[in-house]
Amino acid sequence: MSYQNLVPRFIKYAKQTTRSDENSATIPSTKSQSVFAHQLVAELQQIGLSQVHISTKSAYVLATLPTNLPATAEVPKIGLIAHMDTADFNAENVQPQIQKNYDGKATIPLAKSGYYLDPAEFPNLKNYAGEDLITTDGTTLLGADDKAGIAEIITAAEYLLAHPEIKHGTIQIGIGPDEEIGKGADNFDVTEFPADFAYTVDGGPLGELEYETFNAAQAKIKLIGKNVHPGTAKDVMVNALQLAFDFQAQLPADEVPEKTAGRQGFFHLIDLNGTVDQAEMTYIIRDHDRSKFESRKELLQQIAARMNAEYGEERVVLEVTDQYYNMREVIEKDMTSVKLAQTAMEELKIKPIIYPVRGGTDGSKISFMGLPTPNLFAGGENMHSRFEFVSVQVMERAVDVILQIIKSAVHKAK
Ligand SMILES: [Zn+2]
Repeated sequence: MSYQNLVPRFIKYAKQTTRSDENSATIPSTKSQSVFAHQLVAELQQIGLSQVHISTKSAYVLATLPTNLPATAEVPKIGLIAHMDTADFNAENVQPQIQKNYDGKATIPLAKSGYYLDPAEFPNLKNYAGEDLITTDGTTLLGADDKAGIAEIITAAEYLLAHPEIKHGTIQIGIGPDEEIGKGADNFDVTEFPADFAYTVDGGPLGELEYETFNAAQAKIKLIGKNVHPGTAKDVMVNALQLAFDFQAQLPADEVPEKTAGRQGFFHLIDLNGTVDQAEMTYIIRDHDRSKFESRKELLQQIAARMNAEYGEERVVLEVTDQYYNMREVIEKDMTSVKLAQTAMEELKIKPIIYPVRGGTDGSKISFMGLPTPNLFAGGENMHSRFEFVSVQVMERAVDVILQIIKSAVHKAK
């Protein structure tokens, strides 16, 4: 269906800078997100949602669409979640461009930036023949991740408010900060969000439905060397940089991001710096399988222990922190949320695309707080870059899916 306010709403959001900052300690991490949050509050109040406020704890914009069914109706309360921040890429002065009725073949110039969206380079463009694409002007990202999600959720709520004849249960809305720096959901409070299950609307192309993510941890490793004059170093010097190489050499060489796909996990060295005296390494560890994930962390411990034993003193200091877990562990105990979304898409003749995400979502954390939260497509492509784009028609389909889920939940409960 076409929704009058969807595209203007998205463009208004996209133009507003809301980049997060991983070096900030405030919640939200940037002032620009607070400014945006206050504007969302005004908008949500204006369209007629209830209990609109910003959580002092999580900085989420929260709102409720009360049910229009009798209090006795047993309909699940559904949550809809999106994030307001944009990724680590220029987001100043975003100028969305609309390419109407794209033919699926042409190269789209990104305004006068000298950059192009070329189907030879981005074959995903071929999926959009006949659709209207919103692109950047080549100087910034677009922020469809996840402002498309926000616009879709709010447009769905607006539609329900304008069509009281559509019966629905209670809908909770949460628009959070700082997803891109992996912190936003940490402060999410399920007691402020009374829902039976929720969806993040933060996925990519049409049909995406995700309920499986990585298990994720980060390892920080300090290598302690002993620096002496290289001329008299024999049997005395311990080179911290060599310790780092030795550590890395004991990890399985093929279990790295660039050599894995699907459900294969990895160790990913993301930072290495140091001198002879001392060095630091940072790894991220990822695996869909919880026991393999635990074994990976165990392997790091074993390597550190072995090296320390070899030197007879602590030369390798390892600190491992879990970041998030595979939400499937929670969701598969009650697949209602996934089945509802799957059925809704099928009813709309959209083929659900279900696969394990090689990453995490806010739902990875929120699910483990007791609120099962799979992820729905929002439409964005080539996210986090100047080549980001979103199809208007896919955004419309996302609103359709949200509405269909809400309708099906009532239907199913009857
Ligand atoms: Zn996102």
